Amino acid sequence: MDEGKRVESGISGRTSDTIVSILKRLPSIWLDGHRARKLASRLPPCLDNVPLPDADTIYSWIKGFCATPHRRPGTPEGHRGEQWVAERFRELGFPDVHVDPVPITVWTASKWSLSVEGKEMPSFFVVNTGFTGAGGVSAPLVYVGTGTARDFKRVDVAGKIVVADIPFPKMPTGVLMKLIHACYTFSDPNHELHLRSTQYLNFVRQNFIGGSTAEDAPANDVYWQSFKRGAVGICLILRDQPGNSNTHYGPYDGLMKPMPGLWIANEDGAQLKTLARSGNAARLTLEGSSEPGVMHNVWVVLPGRSDEVILVTSHHDSPFQGAVEDGTGVAQVLAQCRAWSQVPLEQRPKTLVFVVDAGHFYGSLGGHTFARQHKDIMARTRILLTVEHLGGKEVAAVVGGGYAETGRLALTVMFTTPDPLVLATVARALEKKPARTTASIPANFFGPAPISDACGYVIEAGVPVISWIGCPYYLLDQYDTLDKVDTTALVPIAETIAEMIKIQMAMK
Ligand SMILES: [Zn+2]
Repeated sequence: MDEGKRVESGISGRTSDTIVSILKRLPSIWLDGHRARKLASRLPPCLDNVPLPDADTIYSWIKGFCATPHRRPGTPEGHRGEQWVAERFRELGFPDVHVDPVPITVWTASKWSLSVEGKEMPSFFVVNTGFTGAGGVSAPLVYVGTGTARDFKRVDVAGKIVVADIPFPKMPTGVLMKLIHACYTFSDPNHELHLRSTQYLNFVRQNFIGGSTAEDAPANDVYWQSFKRGAVGICLILRDQPGNSNTHYGPYDGLMKPMPGLWIANEDGAQLKTLARSGNAARLTLEGSSEPGVMHNVWVVLPGRSDEVILVTSHHDSPFQGAVEDGTGVAQVLAQCRAWSQVPLEQRPKTLVFVVDAGHFYGSLGGHTFARQHKDIMARTRILLTVEHLGGKEVAAVVGGGYAETGRLALTVMFTTPDPLVLATVARALEKKPARTTASIPANFFGPAPISDACGYVIEAGVPVISWIGCPYYLLDQYDTLDKVDTTALVPIAETIAEMIKIQMAMK
Protein backbone atom coordinates (compact mmCIF):
# COMPACT_ATOMS: atom_id res chain seq x y z
CA MET A 1 0.00 0.00 0.00
CA ASP A 2 1.44 3.31 -1.01
CA GLU A 3 2.18 6.08 1.42
CA GLY A 4 4.57 8.31 -0.46
CA LYS A 5 1.83 10.38 -1.94
CA ARG A 6 -0.62 10.83 0.85
CA VAL A 7 -1.57 14.29 -0.35
CA GLU A 8 -2.28 13.16 -3.91
CA SER A 9 -4.22 10.08 -2.83
CA GLY A 10 -6.35 12.10 -0.42
CA ILE A 11 -6.67 9.27 2.14
CA SER A 12 -8.06 10.83 5.29
CA GLY A 13 -7.81 7.57 7.19
CA ARG A 14 -11.24 8.02 8.71
CA THR A 15 -13.55 5.04 8.29
CA SER A 16 -16.69 7.19 8.15
CA ASP A 17 -15.31 9.46 5.38
CA THR A 18 -14.32 6.42 3.32
CA ILE A 19 -17.69 4.73 3.71
CA VAL A 20 -19.67 7.90 2.88
CA SER A 21 -17.62 8.39 -0.29
CA ILE A 22 -18.21 4.73 -1.27
CA LEU A 23 -21.98 5.05 -0.72
CA LYS A 24 -22.16 8.16 -2.89
CA ARG A 25 -20.53 6.30 -5.75
CA LEU A 26 -22.64 3.15 -5.57
CA PRO A 27 -25.00 3.95 -8.49
CA SER A 28 -22.09 4.53 -10.88
CA ILE A 29 -20.27 1.41 -9.63
CA TRP A 30 -23.38 -0.73 -10.20
CA LEU A 31 -24.01 0.73 -13.65
CA ASP A 32 -20.39 0.38 -14.78
CA GLY A 33 -20.26 -3.17 -13.42
CA HIS A 34 -23.42 -4.14 -15.27
CA ARG A 35 -22.13 -2.66 -18.55
CA ALA A 36 -18.78 -4.42 -18.07
CA ARG A 37 -20.40 -7.83 -17.74
CA LYS A 38 -22.45 -7.21 -20.90
CA LEU A 39 -19.42 -6.03 -22.84
CA ALA A 40 -17.35 -8.98 -21.53
CA SER A 41 -19.48 -11.44 -23.47
CA ARG A 42 -18.75 -9.58 -26.73
CA LEU A 43 -14.96 -9.41 -26.40
CA PRO A 44 -12.96 -11.05 -29.19
CA PRO A 45 -11.88 -14.68 -28.63
CA CYS A 46 -8.39 -15.08 -27.26
CA LEU A 47 -5.57 -17.57 -27.04
CA ASP A 48 -6.39 -20.53 -24.87
CA ASN A 49 -3.08 -22.17 -24.28
CA VAL A 50 -0.55 -20.31 -22.15
CA PRO A 51 1.83 -22.81 -20.51
CA LEU A 52 1.88 -21.65 -16.88
CA PRO A 53 4.40 -23.10 -14.42
CA ASP A 54 3.08 -25.49 -11.76
CA ALA A 55 2.59 -24.69 -8.07
CA ASP A 56 5.92 -26.26 -7.05
CA THR A 57 7.82 -24.01 -9.44
CA ILE A 58 6.00 -20.86 -8.33
CA TYR A 59 6.48 -21.76 -4.66
CA SER A 60 10.17 -22.56 -5.22
CA TRP A 61 10.60 -19.00 -6.51
CA ILE A 62 8.92 -17.58 -3.42
CA LYS A 63 11.22 -19.69 -1.23
CA GLY A 64 14.36 -18.85 -3.18
CA PHE A 65 13.56 -15.14 -3.18
CA CYS A 66 12.59 -14.93 0.50
CA ALA A 67 15.85 -16.38 1.87
CA THR A 68 16.82 -13.35 3.99
CA PRO A 69 15.16 -11.92 7.13
CA HIS A 70 14.06 -8.85 5.14
CA ARG A 71 14.66 -6.99 1.86
CA ARG A 72 14.65 -3.41 3.08
CA PRO A 73 15.53 -0.75 0.49
CA GLY A 74 19.25 -0.28 -0.13
CA THR A 75 20.42 -2.91 2.39
CA PRO A 76 22.63 -5.92 1.49
CA GLU A 77 19.52 -8.11 1.88
CA GLY A 78 17.58 -5.80 -0.44
CA HIS A 79 20.38 -5.98 -3.03
CA ARG A 80 20.44 -9.77 -2.78
CA GLY A 81 16.70 -9.77 -3.62
CA GLU A 82 17.28 -7.56 -6.68
CA GLN A 83 20.10 -9.78 -7.92
CA TRP A 84 17.98 -12.88 -7.39
CA VAL A 85 15.22 -11.41 -9.59
CA ALA A 86 17.74 -10.43 -12.29
CA GLU A 87 19.15 -13.99 -12.26
CA ARG A 88 15.69 -15.51 -12.68
CA PHE A 89 14.97 -13.24 -15.66
CA ARG A 90 18.27 -14.35 -17.25
CA GLU A 91 17.41 -17.97 -16.55
CA LEU A 92 14.10 -17.43 -18.36
CA GLY A 93 16.03 -16.46 -21.48
CA PHE A 94 16.44 -12.69 -21.17
CA PRO A 95 20.15 -11.89 -21.57
CA ASP A 96 19.44 -8.14 -21.37
CA VAL A 97 18.04 -7.57 -17.92
CA HIS A 98 17.69 -3.87 -17.16
CA VAL A 99 18.82 -2.84 -13.70
CA ASP A 100 18.07 0.87 -13.11
CA PRO A 101 19.62 2.47 -10.03
CA VAL A 102 17.38 4.59 -7.80
CA PRO A 103 19.33 6.67 -5.23
CA ILE A 104 17.97 6.79 -1.67
CA THR A 105 18.98 7.36 1.93
CA VAL A 106 19.49 3.98 3.57
CA TRP A 107 18.22 4.11 7.14
CA THR A 108 19.17 1.14 9.30
CA ALA A 109 18.33 0.63 12.95
CA SER A 110 20.85 -1.46 14.91
CA LYS A 111 19.57 -1.22 18.50
CA TRP A 112 16.46 0.10 20.18
CA SER A 113 14.87 -0.13 23.60
CA LEU A 114 12.44 1.45 25.99
CA SER A 115 13.04 1.33 29.68
CA VAL A 116 10.53 2.73 32.18
CA GLU A 117 11.75 3.21 35.75
CA GLY A 118 14.47 0.69 35.01
CA LYS A 119 12.13 -1.95 33.52
CA GLU A 120 12.45 -2.93 29.85
CA MET A 121 9.31 -2.80 27.71
CA PRO A 122 9.17 -4.63 24.33
CA SER A 123 9.26 -2.21 21.39
CA PHE A 124 10.15 -1.89 17.72
CA PHE A 125 11.65 1.04 15.84
CA VAL A 126 9.58 3.48 13.81
CA VAL A 127 11.41 3.44 10.48
CA ASN A 128 13.24 6.59 9.34
CA THR A 129 12.98 8.36 12.71
CA GLY A 130 15.82 10.08 14.59
CA PHE A 131 18.70 8.29 16.32
CA THR A 132 19.44 8.97 19.99
CA GLY A 133 23.00 7.71 20.38
CA ALA A 134 23.94 4.96 22.85
CA GLY A 135 22.78 6.91 25.91
CA GLY A 136 19.23 7.34 24.59
CA VAL A 137 16.94 10.17 25.67
CA SER A 138 15.62 10.21 29.22
CA ALA A 139 12.48 12.17 30.05
CA PRO A 140 9.11 11.91 31.75
CA LEU A 141 6.38 10.11 29.81
CA VAL A 142 3.19 11.90 28.82
CA TYR A 143 0.06 10.26 27.39
CA VAL A 144 -1.83 12.20 24.70
CA GLY A 145 -4.56 9.75 23.62
CA THR A 146 -4.73 9.87 19.81
CA GLY A 147 -3.28 13.39 19.84
CA THR A 148 -6.22 15.60 18.92
CA ALA A 149 -6.00 19.37 19.43
CA ARG A 150 -7.98 18.89 22.66
CA ASP A 151 -5.61 16.19 23.88
CA PHE A 152 -2.64 18.52 23.36
CA LYS A 153 -4.40 21.36 25.21
CA ARG A 154 -4.60 19.24 28.35
CA VAL A 155 -0.89 18.36 28.57
CA ASP A 156 2.50 19.90 28.01
CA VAL A 157 4.69 17.59 25.93
CA ALA A 158 7.78 19.84 25.71
CA GLY A 159 10.91 17.98 26.79
CA LYS A 160 8.92 14.75 27.30
CA ILE A 161 8.47 11.35 25.67
CA VAL A 162 4.97 11.19 24.22
CA VAL A 163 2.84 8.04 24.48
CA ALA A 164 -0.02 7.93 21.94
CA ASP A 165 -2.59 5.52 20.51
CA ILE A 166 -2.59 4.81 16.77
CA PRO A 167 -5.99 3.57 15.53
CA PHE A 168 -6.66 1.83 12.20
CA PRO A 169 -9.89 2.11 10.20
CA LYS A 170 -12.04 -1.02 10.17
CA MET A 171 -13.92 -1.79 6.95
CA PRO A 172 -17.15 -3.81 6.97
CA THR A 173 -15.94 -5.83 3.97
CA GLY A 174 -18.74 -8.40 4.12
CA VAL A 175 -21.47 -5.77 4.06
CA LEU A 176 -19.67 -3.71 1.41
CA MET A 177 -19.09 -6.57 -1.03
CA LYS A 178 -21.93 -9.01 -0.35
CA LEU A 179 -24.81 -6.83 0.78
CA ILE A 180 -24.49 -3.49 -1.01
CA HIS A 181 -22.17 -4.77 -3.74
CA ALA A 182 -19.75 -1.86 -3.69
CA CYS A 183 -17.69 -3.38 -6.48
CA TYR A 184 -17.79 -3.85 -10.27
CA THR A 185 -17.33 -7.60 -10.03
CA PHE A 186 -17.15 -9.85 -6.98
CA SER A 187 -15.64 -13.31 -7.20
CA ASP A 188 -15.99 -15.74 -4.31
CA PRO A 189 -16.54 -19.26 -5.68
CA ASN A 190 -15.81 -20.92 -2.30
CA HIS A 191 -18.03 -18.51 -0.30
CA GLU A 192 -15.14 -17.43 1.86
CA LEU A 193 -16.38 -13.91 2.61
CA HIS A 194 -19.17 -13.72 5.16
CA LEU A 195 -21.63 -10.92 5.69
CA ARG A 196 -20.02 -10.25 9.06
CA SER A 197 -16.45 -10.23 7.71
CA THR A 198 -14.52 -7.08 8.65
CA GLN A 199 -10.99 -5.96 8.03
CA TYR A 200 -8.72 -3.52 9.83
CA LEU A 201 -6.71 -1.55 7.28
CA ASN A 202 -3.56 -1.75 9.36
CA PHE A 203 -1.47 0.08 6.79
CA VAL A 204 -3.60 3.19 7.45
CA ARG A 205 -2.38 4.70 10.70
CA GLN A 206 -5.17 7.21 11.04
CA ASN A 207 -3.20 9.83 12.99
CA PHE A 208 0.22 9.05 11.44
CA ILE A 209 -0.52 8.34 7.78
CA GLY A 210 2.93 9.28 6.49
CA GLY A 211 3.92 11.25 3.41
CA SER A 212 4.13 14.55 5.26
CA THR A 213 6.76 16.77 6.88
CA ALA A 214 6.73 19.19 9.82
CA GLU A 215 5.60 21.94 7.42
CA ASP A 216 2.64 20.20 5.77
CA ALA A 217 1.60 17.72 8.48
CA PRO A 218 -2.16 17.35 9.01
CA ALA A 219 -3.54 18.73 12.28
CA ASN A 220 -4.27 15.18 13.47
CA ASP A 221 -0.74 13.83 12.85
CA VAL A 222 0.33 12.91 16.36
CA TYR A 223 4.01 12.43 15.45
CA TRP A 224 4.49 15.85 13.89
CA GLN A 225 2.22 17.67 16.36
CA SER A 226 4.26 16.20 19.24
CA PHE A 227 7.52 17.16 17.54
CA LYS A 228 6.35 20.72 16.90
CA ARG A 229 5.41 21.06 20.58
CA GLY A 230 8.93 20.11 21.68
CA ALA A 231 8.61 16.40 22.53
CA VAL A 232 11.94 14.53 22.56
CA GLY A 233 10.66 11.06 21.63
CA ILE A 234 7.45 9.17 20.93
CA CYS A 235 6.02 5.73 21.76
CA LEU A 236 3.17 4.75 19.46
CA ILE A 237 0.73 2.07 20.60
CA LEU A 238 -0.64 -0.21 17.87
CA ARG A 239 -4.06 -0.10 19.48
CA ASP A 240 -5.98 -2.03 16.81
CA GLN A 241 -3.25 -4.33 15.49
CA PRO A 242 -4.58 -7.88 15.69
CA GLY A 243 -2.14 -10.37 17.17
CA ASN A 244 -0.41 -8.00 19.63
CA SER A 245 2.54 -7.49 17.29
CA ASN A 246 4.86 -4.52 17.66
CA THR A 247 6.91 -5.18 14.52
CA HIS A 248 5.13 -2.62 12.42
CA TYR A 249 7.14 -1.26 9.47
CA GLY A 250 5.72 2.16 8.74
CA PRO A 251 5.12 4.82 7.69
CA TYR A 252 7.22 3.78 4.69
CA ASP A 253 7.11 7.09 2.88
CA GLY A 254 10.91 7.40 2.53
CA LEU A 255 10.84 10.70 4.46
CA MET A 256 13.34 11.12 7.30
CA LYS A 257 11.83 12.27 10.59
CA PRO A 258 13.94 13.92 13.32
CA MET A 259 12.30 12.68 16.55
CA PRO A 260 13.05 9.07 17.63
CA GLY A 261 10.02 6.78 17.70
CA LEU A 262 9.13 3.26 18.86
CA TRP A 263 6.13 1.04 18.22
CA ILE A 264 4.51 -0.63 21.23
CA ALA A 265 2.15 -3.62 20.99
CA ASN A 266 -1.43 -3.20 22.08
CA GLU A 267 -1.19 -5.18 25.35
CA ASP A 268 2.13 -3.62 26.42
CA GLY A 269 0.61 -0.29 25.48
CA ALA A 270 -2.10 -0.61 28.12
CA GLN A 271 0.61 -0.89 30.77
CA LEU A 272 2.65 1.94 29.27
CA LYS A 273 -0.37 4.27 29.33
CA THR A 274 -0.82 3.67 33.06
CA LEU A 275 2.87 4.37 33.67
CA ALA A 276 2.69 7.54 31.55
CA ARG A 277 -0.42 8.79 33.33
CA SER A 278 1.43 8.65 36.64
CA GLY A 279 4.28 10.67 35.13
CA ASN A 280 6.96 7.96 35.24
CA ALA A 281 10.26 8.65 33.51
CA ALA A 282 11.61 6.54 30.66
CA ARG A 283 14.72 6.11 28.56
CA LEU A 284 14.16 5.69 24.84
CA THR A 285 17.10 4.46 22.75
CA LEU A 286 17.31 4.18 18.98
CA GLU A 287 20.70 3.61 17.38
CA GLY A 288 21.61 3.03 13.77
CA SER A 289 22.93 4.64 10.62
CA SER A 290 21.63 6.75 7.81
CA GLU A 291 23.69 7.09 4.64
CA PRO A 292 23.40 7.59 0.88
CA GLY A 293 22.69 4.37 -1.01
CA VAL A 294 20.86 2.89 -3.93
CA MET A 295 18.15 0.40 -4.84
CA HIS A 296 17.28 -0.94 -8.31
CA ASN A 297 14.33 -1.46 -10.62
CA VAL A 298 14.79 -4.79 -12.40
CA TRP A 299 12.95 -5.30 -15.70
CA VAL A 300 12.82 -7.05 -19.07
CA VAL A 301 10.99 -6.65 -22.37
CA LEU A 302 9.30 -9.49 -24.28
CA PRO A 303 8.67 -7.96 -27.72
CA GLY A 304 5.38 -8.72 -29.44
CA ARG A 305 4.10 -8.07 -32.96
CA SER A 306 3.38 -4.45 -32.08
CA ASP A 307 5.05 -2.05 -29.69
CA GLU A 308 1.87 -1.51 -27.70
CA VAL A 309 2.70 -2.50 -24.13
CA ILE A 310 1.09 -4.61 -21.44
CA LEU A 311 3.05 -3.67 -18.32
CA VAL A 312 3.19 -6.32 -15.58
CA THR A 313 4.69 -5.25 -12.25
CA SER A 314 5.34 -6.01 -8.59
CA HIS A 315 7.98 -4.88 -6.08
CA HIS A 316 10.92 -6.75 -4.58
CA ASP A 317 11.46 -4.97 -1.27
CA SER A 318 9.92 -6.08 2.02
CA PRO A 319 10.09 -5.10 5.70
CA PHE A 320 10.58 -8.69 6.91
CA GLN A 321 10.89 -12.08 5.20
CA GLY A 322 8.10 -10.94 2.92
CA ALA A 323 6.81 -14.28 1.67
CA VAL A 324 3.44 -12.74 0.83
CA GLU A 325 4.62 -9.09 0.51
CA ASP A 326 5.91 -9.46 -2.06
CA GLY A 327 7.34 -12.92 -2.61
CA THR A 328 3.99 -13.90 -4.06
CA GLY A 329 3.80 -10.84 -6.32
CA VAL A 330 7.33 -11.33 -7.67
CA ALA A 331 6.68 -15.06 -8.26
CA GLN A 332 3.50 -14.23 -10.20
CA VAL A 333 5.41 -11.77 -12.41
CA LEU A 334 7.99 -14.50 -13.09
CA ALA A 335 5.21 -17.02 -13.80
CA GLN A 336 3.73 -14.76 -16.51
CA CYS A 337 7.19 -13.95 -17.85
CA ARG A 338 8.05 -17.62 -18.22
CA ALA A 339 4.66 -18.57 -19.68
CA TRP A 340 4.48 -15.80 -22.26
CA SER A 341 8.11 -16.32 -23.38
CA GLN A 342 7.00 -19.79 -24.47
CA VAL A 343 4.12 -18.47 -26.59
CA PRO A 344 5.19 -18.02 -30.25
CA LEU A 345 5.68 -14.39 -31.36
CA GLU A 346 2.83 -14.58 -33.89
CA GLN A 347 0.46 -15.23 -30.98
CA ARG A 348 1.68 -12.23 -29.02
CA PRO A 349 0.20 -9.15 -30.73
CA LYS A 350 1.48 -6.87 -27.97
CA THR A 351 4.77 -6.33 -26.19
CA LEU A 352 5.05 -7.39 -22.56
CA VAL A 353 7.22 -5.43 -20.14
CA PHE A 354 7.86 -7.10 -16.77
CA VAL A 355 9.04 -4.80 -13.99
CA VAL A 356 9.99 -5.85 -10.47
CA ASP A 357 10.44 -2.43 -8.96
CA ALA A 358 12.24 -1.07 -5.92
CA GLY A 359 11.28 0.88 -2.87
CA HIS A 360 7.64 0.21 -2.40
CA PHE A 361 8.74 0.71 1.20
CA TYR A 362 10.33 3.98 0.23
CA GLY A 363 7.28 5.93 -0.89
CA SER A 364 6.87 3.66 -3.95
CA LEU A 365 9.86 5.50 -5.37
CA GLY A 366 10.73 2.64 -7.76
CA GLY A 367 7.42 2.89 -9.59
CA HIS A 368 7.54 6.68 -9.75
CA THR A 369 11.11 6.58 -11.04
CA PHE A 370 10.41 3.94 -13.68
CA ALA A 371 7.49 5.96 -15.05
CA ARG A 372 9.57 9.17 -15.12
CA GLN A 373 12.60 7.50 -16.71
CA HIS A 374 10.71 5.45 -19.31
CA LYS A 375 8.13 7.85 -20.70
CA ASP A 376 8.38 6.06 -24.07
CA ILE A 377 7.20 2.79 -22.50
CA MET A 378 4.50 4.51 -20.47
CA ALA A 379 3.18 6.27 -23.59
CA ARG A 380 2.78 2.87 -25.31
CA THR A 381 1.23 1.17 -22.26
CA ARG A 382 -2.39 0.20 -22.80
CA ILE A 383 -2.75 -1.52 -19.44
CA LEU A 384 -0.76 -1.74 -16.22
CA LEU A 385 -1.24 -4.98 -14.34
CA THR A 386 0.24 -4.82 -10.83
CA VAL A 387 0.17 -7.96 -8.70
CA GLU A 388 0.87 -7.93 -4.96
CA HIS A 389 0.28 -10.16 -1.96
CA LEU A 390 -1.82 -12.75 -3.78
CA GLY A 391 -2.40 -16.16 -2.25
CA GLY A 392 -1.84 -15.12 1.37
CA LYS A 393 -3.76 -17.00 4.04
CA GLU A 394 -6.28 -15.11 6.10
CA VAL A 395 -5.42 -14.95 9.80
CA ALA A 396 -7.18 -13.89 12.96
CA ALA A 397 -5.66 -12.60 16.18
CA VAL A 398 -4.85 -14.99 18.99
CA VAL A 399 -5.22 -13.83 22.59
CA GLY A 400 -1.75 -13.36 24.03
CA GLY A 401 -0.16 -12.68 20.65
CA GLY A 402 0.36 -14.06 17.17
CA TYR A 403 -2.09 -15.18 14.54
CA ALA A 404 -4.14 -18.27 13.75
CA GLU A 405 -5.07 -19.34 10.24
CA THR A 406 -8.79 -19.15 9.54
CA GLY A 407 -8.61 -21.69 6.70
CA ARG A 408 -9.69 -19.04 4.21
CA LEU A 409 -7.73 -17.01 1.69
CA ALA A 410 -7.20 -13.36 2.59
CA LEU A 411 -9.53 -11.01 0.73
CA THR A 412 -8.00 -9.26 -2.26
CA VAL A 413 -9.16 -6.33 -4.37
CA MET A 414 -8.50 -5.29 -7.93
CA PHE A 415 -8.23 -1.52 -8.23
CA THR A 416 -9.68 -1.13 -11.73
CA THR A 417 -9.76 1.93 -14.00
CA PRO A 418 -13.43 2.57 -14.84
CA ASP A 419 -12.82 2.33 -18.58
CA PRO A 420 -15.35 -0.03 -20.25
CA LEU A 421 -12.71 -2.28 -21.84
CA VAL A 422 -10.64 -2.51 -18.66
CA LEU A 423 -13.73 -3.34 -16.58
CA ALA A 424 -14.79 -5.90 -19.19
CA THR A 425 -11.30 -7.47 -19.08
CA VAL A 426 -11.67 -8.08 -15.35
CA ALA A 427 -15.28 -9.29 -15.65
CA ARG A 428 -14.39 -11.74 -18.41
CA ALA A 429 -11.24 -13.01 -16.67
CA LEU A 430 -13.09 -13.61 -13.40
CA GLU A 431 -15.88 -15.36 -15.26
CA LYS A 432 -13.46 -17.73 -17.02
CA LYS A 433 -11.03 -18.19 -14.13
CA PRO A 434 -12.89 -17.22 -10.94
CA ALA A 435 -10.48 -16.06 -8.25
CA ARG A 436 -11.09 -16.76 -4.59
CA THR A 437 -12.51 -13.77 -2.63
CA THR A 438 -11.67 -10.87 -4.82
CA ALA A 439 -13.55 -7.69 -5.64
CA SER A 440 -12.91 -5.33 -8.53
CA ILE A 441 -13.29 -1.82 -7.12
CA PRO A 442 -12.66 1.65 -8.63
CA ALA A 443 -8.96 2.47 -9.09
CA ASN A 444 -9.76 5.75 -7.35
CA PHE A 445 -11.71 4.16 -4.47
CA PHE A 446 -9.54 5.85 -1.82
CA GLY A 447 -8.16 8.74 -3.90
CA PRO A 448 -6.90 9.49 -7.43
CA ALA A 449 -4.55 6.49 -7.60
CA PRO A 450 -4.74 2.92 -6.25
CA ILE A 451 -3.19 2.58 -2.78
CA SER A 452 -0.76 -0.04 -4.07
CA ASP A 453 2.58 -0.25 -5.83
CA ALA A 454 0.74 0.77 -9.03
CA CYS A 455 0.36 4.32 -7.73
CA GLY A 456 3.73 5.61 -9.01
CA TYR A 457 2.93 4.58 -12.60
CA VAL A 458 -0.65 5.86 -12.41
CA ILE A 459 0.27 9.23 -10.84
CA GLU A 460 3.20 9.84 -13.21
CA ALA A 461 1.69 8.54 -16.46
CA GLY A 462 -2.08 8.21 -15.97
CA VAL A 463 -2.12 4.69 -17.45
CA PRO A 464 -5.22 2.46 -17.16
CA VAL A 465 -4.67 -0.05 -14.39
CA ILE A 466 -5.73 -3.33 -12.85
CA SER A 467 -3.93 -3.45 -9.51
CA TRP A 468 -4.62 -6.79 -7.82
CA ILE A 469 -3.66 -6.73 -4.17
CA GLY A 470 -4.39 -8.45 -0.85
CA CYS A 471 -3.95 -7.05 2.65
CA PRO A 472 -3.74 -9.76 5.33
CA TYR A 473 -2.81 -8.55 8.83
CA TYR A 474 0.82 -9.72 8.74
CA LEU A 475 1.94 -7.71 5.70
CA LEU A 476 3.97 -5.18 7.65
CA ASP A 477 5.21 -7.41 10.44
CA GLN A 478 7.53 -10.31 11.26
CA TYR A 479 4.82 -12.93 10.65
CA ASP A 480 4.90 -12.55 6.84
CA THR A 481 6.62 -15.93 6.54
CA LEU A 482 6.51 -18.85 4.06
CA ASP A 483 3.78 -20.69 5.99
CA LYS A 484 1.39 -17.82 5.17
CA VAL A 485 1.41 -18.72 1.45
CA ASP A 486 -1.52 -20.88 0.36
CA THR A 487 0.25 -23.00 -2.25
CA THR A 488 -3.06 -24.30 -3.64
CA ALA A 489 -3.94 -20.75 -4.69
CA LEU A 490 -0.78 -20.06 -6.71
CA VAL A 491 -1.72 -21.65 -10.04
CA PRO A 492 -5.37 -20.45 -10.03
CA ILE A 493 -4.11 -16.89 -9.42
CA ALA A 494 -1.60 -17.23 -12.28
CA GLU A 495 -4.47 -18.44 -14.48
CA THR A 496 -6.61 -15.39 -13.70
CA ILE A 497 -3.67 -13.06 -14.39
CA ALA A 498 -2.88 -14.89 -17.64
CA GLU A 499 -6.55 -14.56 -18.62
CA MET A 500 -6.43 -10.78 -18.21
CA ILE A 501 -3.27 -10.61 -20.33
CA LYS A 502 -4.82 -12.85 -23.01
CA ILE A 503 -7.91 -10.62 -23.20
CA GLN A 504 -5.80 -7.48 -23.48
CA MET A 505 -3.58 -9.17 -26.11
CA ALA A 506 -6.64 -9.95 -28.25
CA MET A 507 -8.15 -6.47 -28.05
CA LYS A 508 -7.95 -4.12 -31.03
ZN1 LIG B 1 3.27 -5.10 -1.96
